[in-house]
Amino acid sequence: MKHSVIPQEESHHLYVTVHHGHFQGQMKCRGDKGVCARCLQRGDRHEEGVMHEYHECLEAKAVWAKVASDWLEATGNVLDVSSPLLTVTGLRLPAPGSLSAEARARFDALEPAWRLVHSVALLKLHQARTRAHMAYHAEPQRQPKKTSTRDVMCAVRQRVLQRVEFEYSKAKHAATFSRDPRPLSRFFATWIATGVVAAIHKGQPRLRLFSAPQPETLPSPGTLHIRTCGAYVKTKGKRGPGSGFSLTAHQVQADGTETLVLAASGAVLAVATHGARAPPSAAPQHTPQVAQHAAALAGLACAEHALANGWNVRTTLGSETTHRSIERQPGVGTTPIRGHKHDSLNCLLRKKVARMRADYIQTLELRAPSRATPLSLLAAAEKAAFLPSLYAKVATHVTPPHSALWDGSRIWDPGD
Ligand SMILES: [Zn+2]
Repeated sequence: MKHSVIPQEESHHLYVTVHHGHFQGQMKCRGDKGVCARCLQRGDRHEEGVMHEYHECLEAKAVWAKVASDWLEATGNVLDVSSPLLTVTGLRLPAPGSLSAEARARFDALEPAWRLVHSVALLKLHQARTRAHMAYHAEPQRQPKKTSTRDVMCAVRQRVLQRVEFEYSKAKHAATFSRDPRPLSRFFATWIATGVVAAIHKGQPRLRLFSAPQPETLPSPGTLHIRTCGAYVKTKGKRGPGSGFSLTAHQVQADGTETLVLAASGAVLAVATHGARAPPSAAPQHTPQVAQHAAALAGLACAEHALANGWNVRTTLGSETTHRSIERQPGVGTTPIRGHKHDSLNCLLRKKVARMRADYIQTLELRAPSRATPLSLLAAAEKAAFLPSLYAKVATHVTPPHSALWDGSRIWDPGD
């Protein structure tokens, strides 16, 4: 409640909220004034209280659902809005053991941004509720203004942006006048590296959070959307470095939402850790880029099954660099870097993409990630890094209409 990014007004409101200090409910108010005005308009009677106002009321649910989906897109962190601990008090609790190493570090780095977003959304919800309440009990009764989910979200966005601008000017001031660069680097770590702020444009921060994605960047309905992620895990004690990959495949529905069809993860094979068991085109050593390329290869193996079953496929790769190195035309513009650790893997990937595009009439689209990589995907890749099996672990969530999408046992196609 006393986090340094929470503004005074929001902080005070948070204190009152968790102590049930609002003037509402049937103990404090008479008759209809003790019940939720917005539910009353729909013909329901619900006593007003902290739980109802911020968590159970339909308006509150709609706002939290929107906050959670925008937050996930910008940061890759899933919020469990079914828990009042999250909506009312703002506690983000990851399932124990669900995050590891880098995924955990990214989760922790999001804390200041989340505290700000939560406290602002909580206050804006309350202000909208109060407008609805006053309008309902006014003489004569009138229609409340600016109480829709869109209005609330717009207010939240404005307020968050205002506070981020304030944090930025504070950090810039320190850098200019006290010659202390630390606040500015803290600003970058908290707001830009986490994906909440997209960039500094003309001296002002620009939010990525709460900004709608460009419609042309969304996959079309009916497409199978595969996301891949590779994670490199550094040396720790006697254990050498390793890497893992993970992927998910979602079916894009008519309304643009996605349903999970398949999730898979596995260890990345390299000569350094697997010796003779590694396939001939495997990289000699583990590097972050080898991990991303191996993840892309697994994604393509899955994509091939999907193409054969008549899907159009979009594959979102783990990073911008991976996308560029796969789609780059050899010999055009850039000179290939000789003797790179993942050259043979990269070459294999490019050949495989070209062959798949020639073999199937369905489209295979490769993309760099336009939004944050989900933390769960990163965590799954990190956890898979030291699995003893040479094969991927696959979990199918929905039985697809056609035959099985991918059995996972063959990432390294001997035919390539
Ligand atoms: Zn209500």
